[in-house]
Amino acid sequence: MVVVGGGYTGLWTAYSLAVADPSLRVVVLEAEQVGHGASGRNGGWCSALFPASLASLAATAGRDAALAQHRAMRATVDEVARTAAAEGIDCHLAKGGTVVVARNRAQWTRARAEVAAARTWDRGEDDLRLLDAREATGVLRARGTVGATYTPDCAAIHPARLVRGLAEACERHGVTIHESTRVTAIEPGRARTAAGDVRADVVVRATEGYTPLLPGLRRAVVPVYSLMIATEPLPPAVWDEIGLARRETFSDHRHLVIYGQRTADDRLAFGGRGAPYHLGSRVDPAFDRDERVFAGLYATLVDLFPVLAGTRVTHAWGGPLGIARDWCASVGLDRRTGLAWAGGYVGDGVATTNLAGRTLRDLVLGHDTDLVRLPWVGHRSPAWEPEPVRWLGINAGLRATRLADAEESLTRRPSLLARATATVVPAG
Ligand SMILES: Cc1cc2nc3c(=O)[nH]c(=O)nc-3n(C[C@H](O)[C@H](O)[C@H](O)COP(=O)(O)OP(=O)(O)OC[C@H]3O[C@@H](n4cnc5c(N)ncnc54)[C@H](O)[C@@H]3O)c2cc1C
Repeated sequence: MVVVGGGYTGLWTAYSLAVADPSLRVVVLEAEQVGHGASGRNGGWCSALFPASLASLAATAGRDAALAQHRAMRATVDEVARTAAAEGIDCHLAKGGTVVVARNRAQWTRARAEVAAARTWDRGEDDLRLLDAREATGVLRARGTVGATYTPDCAAIHPARLVRGLAEACERHGVTIHESTRVTAIEPGRARTAAGDVRADVVVRATEGYTPLLPGLRRAVVPVYSLMIATEPLPPAVWDEIGLARRETFSDHRHLVIYGQRTADDRLAFGGRGAPYHLGSRVDPAFDRDERVFAGLYATLVDLFPVLAGTRVTHAWGGPLGIARDWCASVGLDRRTGLAWAGGYVGDGVATTNLAGRTLRDLVLGHDTDLVRLPWVGHRSPAWEPEPVRWLGINAGLRATRLADAEESLTRRPSLLARATATVVPAG
């Protein structure tokens, strides 16, 4: 087995296979260091979120299959916690759930609609709950909160600690990891590198946002950048004003995705999308930093929590995530060629990669389990449009999303612009 990419996808796959069959020879090839990609620098929401909605999964695979995917995602949050504990990975995991506050009437309308829709899928109070203003501010005291949604299905983690701990666990179970080893092409039976070919029965592509850099895969996913900032450690008095006593992860119901967590050392780590997409699906370390986006994140943070005005930001970074054309993550193995893949998680890969790794294990070993019958298995997303249409569409979508939030904070009503563009460009 050769796995290309040493992020969560590659490492969970290698780990799951090595544990299930210690006689397998499993090799991971990583262009830089393990955790160099999104896995080492994400927002640390280990959540049950899946990028494709239940409705879109049901449209292609049926209601039961869609709900099976949702149940598998919920169970995966606990599976990550179980494995981390079993392997002694100290990734600062705290399962406090996620609170998403509504801060104007338009956001509150969306929050209530989301819970009402969840009930039509038989998702009960134990899965997603509506909180009134008093309950919501009991968890998170963001300015202007009128209510919130809450799910228990999320654990805050330290992303780099998880990926490094996982790499060590892989090596303890006999996996060989070669860092600084870039794969130049993936072909049936081999991964090509400048130093020579690695031959294997199965080659797993686990390169997510970097996938377009591989030959023949330019339009498979688009790399979209998400950027983050982290504050200095905040004193207890400030946390008394903010909340998050159980390290709940948090967001609000705006259109453009924002996300935050209280870290184990009491910083506030906060991120969002909105950085531009780069023509030709380019990926470059220079794109990890964008001072305009960092300033916007800080302004949003202070708007949420005025007590943070003047607080020092000690870290700022970013990285590429991968988006499939239909926003559906997928995992699969082509038995004829021995080529396997997993990815397209958008911003929901922390837990989903674990499900991918266990699913690839069952596919490779030929085990007929519930996991291999989930609707994302073998799903093929269409290719993205050629340039410059791709660039125009994605950046127009980002702009429309930002404008929709501005419109709602002015009018307090659900955005007409968001409704008009929803079918063209998914929010966030
Ligand atoms: C800033 C940010 C915040 C995020 N926040 C969250 C969050 O809170 N919750 C959540 O669920 N998801 C989040 N995500 C998404 C999540 O981090 C990813 O979905 C997940 O880490 C993907 O893991 P991966 O292993 O598939 O890809 P990656 O972690 O990107 O790993 C791919 C690896 O492949 C290597 N590679 C690429 N090309 C080659 C090659 N040719 N040869 C060898 N190696 C190669 C790369 O160096 C990299 O290490 C976030 C992403 C970002 C960028």
